[in-house]
Amino acid sequence: MLRVLGTTFAALAGLAFGSFLNVCVTRWPQGESIVAPRSHCCSCGHSLTWWENLPAISWLILRGRCRTCCAWIGWRYPLVELSVGGLWAFTVWRFPGWNLVYGTLSSEPYPALIALLGQFVFYWLLVALAALDAEQLWLPDWLTLPGIVLGISFDLGRVYLSARTAAPGGLETAFLAVPHAALARTISIFFAAGLILLIRGIYRLMRRREGIGLGDAKLMAMLAAWLGFSRTLLAFGAGVMFATLFALSLLTLPAQRKSKDHWGAAKLPLGTFLCIGGIVAALWGYPIIAAYLHWAGFY
Ligand SMILES: [Zn+2]
Repeated sequence: MLRVLGTTFAALAGLAFGSFLNVCVTRWPQGESIVAPRSHCCSCGHSLTWWENLPAISWLILRGRCRTCCAWIGWRYPLVELSVGGLWAFTVWRFPGWNLVYGTLSSEPYPALIALLGQFVFYWLLVALAALDAEQLWLPDWLTLPGIVLGISFDLGRVYLSARTAAPGGLETAFLAVPHAALARTISIFFAAGLILLIRGIYRLMRRREGIGLGDAKLMAMLAAWLGFSRTLLAFGAGVMFATLFALSLLTLPAQRKSKDHWGAAKLPLGTFLCIGGIVAALWGYPIIAAYLHWAGFY
């Protein structure tokens, strides 16, 4: 019962934060304030009443069009709201702390709580970056760079609290676990960013133009800060696979096939696919990696 209530609350909160994110994604590229004018239609300026501003539901009722001028609102609005709402709800549903709430409180719930809070922040950031890169081919530094700091902070907080739980009273061991984790994350971050910079350099030598932006390198560094080394590699592999499938499906469209420079000239929002890969790695990273290692014969 408590678990259902918690999940419902997380879904509603996620929808609300997704709705706020839509305002940000619409207004940031224009350099507009995210607070000042009330929510309005981008075509006719009609101010939205409260029932036109409900996450996902209003979009369905209005069938994706403005009530006054019938301008197409776009798929991004319900997609962003449902993504944040769905991810937050799913995270709360499978929160390991529920066992602690229902069962015996044998260990402290704080490491799991910190990880839960971190996942909320991480998914919100990933949906924001995915939407911005898809629409504007833009991964702002003021999202990715604080994202790196937040990722390390949440990880170190979790490591410190679990170390303290494992050795009650042994504060020295807990403090030793922190620099070790910090070093591991720093190496992962440099490796992840370096991987993108290496591909970028090779592409520039071969094609004599920019292929991958520096924003993608900072995004990979952010993924490494939150996910660690192995899951970032998985996120990268999944992202590149999604991007390739998307590019191939674009090529089958007749309009794309006819245009002269369809191959290699069309700009693909790689960051969006890396964000989707990051979400997959965050949700199912460890089971996927374990299954892969098992399949590859490592154990
Ligand atoms: Zn309108």
